[in-house]
Amino acid sequence: MLSVADARERILAAFLPVESQTVSLKHAAGRVLARDISAATDLPLFDNSRVDGFVLHSADFVCPRTLNVVADIRAGQTSETFIQPGQSARIMTGAPLPPGAEAVVMVEDTDFNMRTPGTPAPQTVTIYKAVRMGENIRRRGEDLHKGNKVLSAGMRLRAQEIGLLAMLGTAEVPVYRRTRFALLSSGDELLPVEAPLTPGKIHESNSYVLTALAEGAGVELIQLGVAADTYKDVRSRLERAVEVKADVIVSSAGVSVGASDYVKSIIEEDGELDFWKVNMRPGKPLAFGKYCGIPFFGLPGNPVSAFVGFEVFVRPALEKLSGLGPLPHPHKMAHLVEPLESDGRESYLGAVVSQENDVLVARLTGHQGSGNIFSLVRANALLIVTSGVKSLPANSEVEIWPIE
Ligand code: AMP
Ligand code: MG
Repeated sequence: MLSVADARERILAAFLPVESQTVSLKHAAGRVLARDISAATDLPLFDNSRVDGFVLHSADFVCPRTLNVVADIRAGQTSETFIQPGQSARIMTGAPLPPGAEAVVMVEDTDFNMRTPGTPAPQTVTIYKAVRMGENIRRRGEDLHKGNKVLSAGMRLRAQEIGLLAMLGTAEVPVYRRTRFALLSSGDELLPVEAPLTPGKIHESNSYVLTALAEGAGVELIQLGVAADTYKDVRSRLERAVEVKADVIVSSAGVSVGASDYVKSIIEEDGELDFWKVNMRPGKPLAFGKYCGIPFFGLPGNPVSAFVGFEVFVRPALEKLSGLGPLPHPHKMAHLVEPLESDGRESYLGAVVSQENDVLVARLTGHQGSGNIFSLVRANALLIVTSGVKSLPANSEVEIWPIE
């Protein structure tokens, strides 16, 4: 049977990043940058004051000193008045330095510590603190220089990157377009969460889990709904994914060999199935292939298996599609608190990881049934038991994936 690593490799080979588009900076947060960005200007763009204060000529760096105030410069204004020895100008934070000024002293270090809005500048000011050359001046280009590469293609734009782009006057940003992610559930036993249950039925939950995971990964969701276990219904919902030009189809359930598992056979009919079993726990029945040319994941129906299948296989594919990666799953090493038994398949188990006396320790969250999503509710990590391992003594080091 196919190993997790081989399955992931085959999956990733089937994806290429989506094309890029231009979006307004207002809508660029969370998107993946499609081109490197170089600074279009120096930052700051002009020498300016770091504080509210008074500017000084270099002849007046000693104190105390009483100076004539010859200008009043607010943020957003400029002054061409050359500051001579014996002269000063009041200046606000962020206002450009006037010519001749070589340092700024804070209002707190003068006899004019008045900052009530509207207070006019004084005629003279006495300085009580000696300053150094350049003190309280933010120099042009001290943060970055025009032409410097500041952002790299393939990064997800966070608030701080958006802020930098705004400071550089970038109104339009080249980003990868959002991945169109079509999601399908199937099963005659499934009722909507709003519906009262009738005998033998359960509430449909995978679409909620997978929607939450996919939205967190930044995709555009196409909900194909819940198909009944009929050839016709499964097929017509898959056809919709083709109509809306989905980049990927993710379905849960219906890929094992049960009498009502139509998904697998429909994929085989109108596409190709690359594989439909992976040597892992939970989630052995896991299909991957193409439906009418669109990469298709058939995740297991059991809720924990569907969750794990997303984390292990779908997430890296979405990262590659989105222009990001694929990135290694964020992981850490932790020490087992108790010994652990496994069945030799690569296993992804719900665990609680905590810091105890400088070491990261991991405990399983009890019963690990593939239908028991409560085991994941109590977990803050997936604990990975590598393939071939049947038992691990207490204190063994294991890889964990945080799932906060
Ligand atoms: P299947 O893969 O169709 O054999 O389903 C395996 C198990 O997962 C069964 O117990 C199903 O009832 C359950 N299951 C399948 N789909 C869902 C779903 N969307 N939400 C919750 N449970 C599901
Ligand atoms: Mg089913």
